[in-house]
Amino acid sequence: MKKVCLISLGCSKNLTDSEELLGNICAEGYQIVQDETKADIAVLNTCAFINPAVKEAVSEIKALIKLKNAGRLKKIIVCGCLVEREKERLKKKFPQIDSLVSTKALNKINVAIRKNGAYLKSSGDLLLSPDYKVRLTAKHSAYLKIADGCDNLCSYCLIPALKGRFRSKPMDMIVNEAKNLVKTGAKEISLIAQDTTNYGIDLYGKPVLTQLLKKLIKIPGLKWLRLMYVYPERLNKELLNLMKNEKIICKYLDIPLQHISDNILKAMNRKSTEKSIRAKMAEIKKIIPDISLRTNFITGFPGETEKDFQKLLNFIKEIEFNYVGIFPYSKEKGTKAFNLNPQIPSKIKQKRVTLLIDAQSAVVDKLNDQMINKKARILMDTAACGRTFGEAPDIDGNFLVESKKKLKPGTFVQIRIIETAGYTRKARIIK
Ligand code: SF4
Repeated sequence: MKKVCLISLGCSKNLTDSEELLGNICAEGYQIVQDETKADIAVLNTCAFINPAVKEAVSEIKALIKLKNAGRLKKIIVCGCLVEREKERLKKKFPQIDSLVSTKALNKINVAIRKNGAYLKSSGDLLLSPDYKVRLTAKHSAYLKIADGCDNLCSYCLIPALKGRFRSKPMDMIVNEAKNLVKTGAKEISLIAQDTTNYGIDLYGKPVLTQLLKKLIKIPGLKWLRLMYVYPERLNKELLNLMKNEKIICKYLDIPLQHISDNILKAMNRKSTEKSIRAKMAEIKKIIPDISLRTNFITGFPGETEKDFQKLLNFIKEIEFNYVGIFPYSKEKGTKAFNLNPQIPSKIKQKRVTLLIDAQSAVVDKLNDQMINKKARILMDTAACGRTFGEAPDIDGNFLVESKKKLKPGTFVQIRIIETAGYTRKARIIK
């Protein structure tokens, strides 16, 4: 049988799409190989929401074309967001590509392998659970995509154009998918979407994330349920109280805020204001004092004055987030912000990014000092390192664990934190 290699680029949502692609490919009986130089067919699942991601995808395509021109590869299939962004233009640019598959037509992958062409149309608007799936994460920790697309239309973001309108997966399908993940070894499930807090708005007429969580926490064997990509304005008291009272739900929130200055939030078409964000942060910390907070900020957005920037810098120092992603604004064709002025020179953008990173590093050092000698329960990701409920897989810090006995990935252990350096902490096992 022919050998297929899948290369997955981009975010955790793309990773779950790659799991679905691989599931379909395996179901057809193809042999999966890790190394594209040993494959007959290469499937590349791309990301394209900002220019650097496009560059990464294009350089992967060029590398695969080199293998094909050398007679090492027979077919190249390109999937994902770059296909959405470029459509057929991609094939004109790179005629060596055999097929294109859009993010909405993942179940067409086997047809695309057999018959060259462009498979861009979705087979219906409903987002369904994949028939087949091959997990690409550690056995004990899985991502579960509960919705796709987005209706928030932030002015700098291409995702609504790439992924389409917000579409939720039916609740019973999600519960079944979660049960299967637990059956295949998952102790931790991270719920993902572009905006998890809007879950159900299209199918049930209102967001029903809390109802979904109440069903998922009943699954025997599930130890940790984690919420990613929360939209601040939709995070309500009911959800926070459920997080507070249910041990299985990690006291962790990934809540991208993007900025704090009202001028910029308005220009970004964010529904938040400085006042609403501050009130939300206070409410979260009041209801769940030991919450671990991750957020993202964009600096250098068109029109960002020194005063706007100082507001953001002071906000980071004041709130003391556990984890912060800091990004320079990326001017993307097809977004509303593309035509906004004044655009900020990249030198100033970079300087602002550096200042924000320095401020966050100082916060991390302070939070780290408070951790020393503290006890914690961690989930081992490997024999040597693990995470508390306060760290999401792949993007946050971890703990290197000293232990005389060999530790197993997927097990929970008690530790005492002995040393810290940035996002890597050292700990000793206590039980
Ligand atoms: S919430 Fe905004 S930034 Fe996030 S995917 Fe939707 S439009 Fe993009």
